[in-house]
Amino acid sequence: STRTRFAPSPTGFIHLGNIRSALYPWAFARSTGGKFILRVEDTDVERSTQASVDVILEGMEWLGLDYDEGPFYQMQRMDRYKAVLADLQAAGHVYPCYMSIAELDALRERQTLAKEKPRYDGTWRPEPGKVLPPVPEGVKPVLRFLNPQGGVVAWDDKVKGRIEIANEELDDLVIARPDGTPTYNFCVVVDDIDMDITHVIRGDDHVNNTPRQINIFRALGKEPPVYAHLPTVLNEQGEKMSKRNGAKPVTAYRDEGFLPDAMVNYLARLGWSHGDDEIFSRAQFLEWFNLDHLGRSAAQYDEAKLRWVNAQHLKAMADESLAALVAVQLLKRDISADDRLARICGLFKDRCDTIVALADWAEKFYVEEVQASEAEYAQHVVPAVFPALATLGEKLASAEWNKPAIAAAIKETLAAHGMKMPQLAMPVRVLLMGTAHTPSLDAVIELTDRKIFSARLAKHQK
Ligand code: GLU
Repeated sequence: STRTRFAPSPTGFIHLGNIRSALYPWAFARSTGGKFILRVEDTDVERSTQASVDVILEGMEWLGLDYDEGPFYQMQRMDRYKAVLADLQAAGHVYPCYMSIAELDALRERQTLAKEKPRYDGTWRPEPGKVLPPVPEGVKPVLRFLNPQGGVVAWDDKVKGRIEIANEELDDLVIARPDGTPTYNFCVVVDDIDMDITHVIRGDDHVNNTPRQINIFRALGKEPPVYAHLPTVLNEQGEKMSKRNGAKPVTAYRDEGFLPDAMVNYLARLGWSHGDDEIFSRAQFLEWFNLDHLGRSAAQYDEAKLRWVNAQHLKAMADESLAALVAVQLLKRDISADDRLARICGLFKDRCDTIVALADWAEKFYVEEVQASEAEYAQHVVPAVFPALATLGEKLASAEWNKPAIAAAIKETLAAHGMKMPQLAMPVRVLLMGTAHTPSLDAVIELTDRKIFSARLAKHQK
């Protein structure tokens, strides 16, 4: 059965471009009855932080990208890499190289001047009949991988199609530093072998590592997995999405009130398609997902589109489920909601694209006062309507508190003052909700606490 993994480096807060590389392998494992593994590639000790690990774990949990094994941490697997390295060395695939940094720099400079591709020249590579330079004293060597000579490394990439790289193009990779610690490409291969990974689905910034990794697989006597290299995610400016140019951490979307299922829907479409389907549930996505419909060109992040997708999911949710999410937001604002909340959500969900926006509306039903927009107040709450406001207040003071009774009181007030609905409804909305842009007035009044209603209605008199 299939086994996939997400292998993030915790060197910055993961953003949407990164987490998409978790979504696809997760979806592939889930839709094929396989296993999904989380591996944290934390060997860059200088730049890895616990805070970044936390964003990975929290982000995945929030999005519902559950893993079957892990999280594994590469730093905790160093002994294993060293043991495999020793085996590889014993099998003759590794050799020490004593070339100093200064010598490497000089080599690179000569090659650049000669317009050649900078590459290690094989000075310390053992060959039959070759005499190696004398080993310099007191220098700790790096270990290099004896890359095969001649032939090509080829694979059928699930996104990019067939890729062939001549071994000529690959120089002998450093696989251990002078202090003996194994380097990145080697650790990845050991992990992918130990974790029995069948499908590597990752960003195409790793496509240059793949032929090197395949050669290491073969030197270890293993066949490489299937590879699918995902095109880049660009930001709205068309640059590669990255923390440096303002990409938000995944968890920021949670805090801004986006829904996990909407995020999954949006991210799914950012590099994969199922015909023209734009809005779908998590279950539908898992039913449809396969590697054949991964896009080949870069995908571009579009926040307006994300908001639209979120709004569609939000609208489709049951009022009670929305209320549960909004209640959490309200609690953060020290507001405990009551059983009106589900109905409030039902009334306002059509005009909101996030849970936070919905909570902003709901909040108005639970606080003492609302802040009215000054422009709308000046436009609608004018002295000419004060008498009608007073009549409405009186009628509602004794009316039953339900929609038909409230609607009747409004109607009677309009008739008594010879007014049209908007003339009365607009100022009442501004006084009640702080803005004239609200759902129908009787529905809004019905959900407003009676005392709060009369206090807000009377406010223009102060
Ligand atoms: N750690 C790598 C990254 O975050 C991913 C490596 C891989 O998937 O093989 O870019």
